[in-house]
Amino acid sequence: MNFGTSRASAIEKLSVFVNQNLFEYSKLRNFDFGPSNRSNISCLSPYITHGIISELELIKIALSKFSFTKNEKFIQEILWRTYWKGWLELRPNVWTDYLDELKKIRNEFKDNANYKNAIEGNTSIECFNEWVNELRNNNYLHNHTRMWFASIWTFTLELPWQLGAEFFIKHLYDGDAAANTLGWRWVAGIQTQGKNYLASEWNIKKFTNNRFSNIKLNENAPTKTSSKIYTASKLEFNNPQNFEEKNLLIFENNLSFEISDFKDQKFKKIFLISNKNENRTIELSEKLMKFKSQLIEDQKKRLEEKLINTEIIDLSEIQNINETSYGLYPTVGENLDYINTNNLKIEFLYRKLDQFSWQYCNKGFFNFKNYIPKIITTFN
Ligand SMILES: Cc1cc2nc3c(=O)[nH]c(=O)nc-3n(C[C@H](O)[C@H](O)[C@H](O)COP(=O)(O)OP(=O)(O)OC[C@H]3O[C@@H](n4cnc5c(N)ncnc54)[C@H](O)[C@@H]3O)c2cc1C
Repeated sequence: MNFGTSRASAIEKLSVFVNQNLFEYSKLRNFDFGPSNRSNISCLSPYITHGIISELELIKIALSKFSFTKNEKFIQEILWRTYWKGWLELRPNVWTDYLDELKKIRNEFKDNANYKNAIEGNTSIECFNEWVNELRNNNYLHNHTRMWFASIWTFTLELPWQLGAEFFIKHLYDGDAAANTLGWRWVAGIQTQGKNYLASEWNIKKFTNNRFSNIKLNENAPTKTSSKIYTASKLEFNNPQNFEEKNLLIFENNLSFEISDFKDQKFKKIFLISNKNENRTIELSEKLMKFKSQLIEDQKKRLEEKLINTEIIDLSEIQNINETSYGLYPTVGENLDYINTNNLKIEFLYRKLDQFSWQYCNKGFFNFKNYIPKIITTFN
């Protein structure tokens, strides 16, 4: 599997998928045919996570090819991300509590043999071991496989979901605080309270096209529980009425300024912010750090081609800029944590899609789904 590190390579991947494979997406999307045959899904998440391609850009191209009805499943999947992100924005304590729990559990499990065997791909479950290697080597896993993986981790290997979520974030090219934390919580049964996801032998066999057999799993484990209840906070994501000419900070989730809502505004200078491992609670793998830094370099190159004054700096250097800057909102996650902890003064700019869609994220996805046609007509 190959993930290029430029917007050009992302656009190429998008175009191949839309032209050759989108028509069969809803029929085939649940199959994991193995790492050498990924044409049934888009594999665009590493680019969407980093803002190299935007959700709306992708939806627009899909709709130029097929009708809304034909595209419905694909659009729903794209907007799952928007939904998870909004859900977490409304309840940011879910993320901070997760990190606090993780720090404690990490300590308890640092010498645990089951945990070590799991992250080394050394368990008695062949498919699980294969997926561990795939995650480490390819930095990507199919959605269905992420569900099986998280379920086996939590209910058969009986390891804390928090450590599994950390392992994913460490390696996934698309690692994202919202989609990952909430995906793991959903499998464990604490996101939709009392409804866990149990992987089963027949389901894995069928949807891996019989690539695995004799899979011994705990298929009846009780759901995990949590006594914490999170209520949605009030939304306050407002952009300035009048723009002044200031610097703009761009974090790792918005690396295509030229397609952003703010592309026509004038900024003094653009700072692209990289975030090294020392600033993070979850240390990322070397390969993932390299992937991110190449994506940032590519954005710098594209901005310089447009003669925009651009510099790459580390998150910790923001405090050396002697004036308040605008910043494309980094969303709940490690970058925002650093900014808040260090009390950095940034005037955030919010994407129109987020401002509009997040108001529908206070309940479950099935409620959010009702608003998808409204979201699409508002932005297309
Ligand atoms: C335990 C678990 C952890 C996950 N961790 C992450 C993560 O860290 N980062 C991440 O981006 N996704 C995560 N996902 C969601 C999903 O697995 C990936 O977005 C998807 O597999 C990406 O592959 P793709 O681009 O080929 O998807 P496609 O099937 O081609 O879908 C198109 C796009 O829709 C979005 N999408 C699809 N499925 C989901 C979903 N279930 N939730 C949210 N968005 C979705 C993605 O942006 C994706 O690129 C996780 C899911 C689970 C169950």
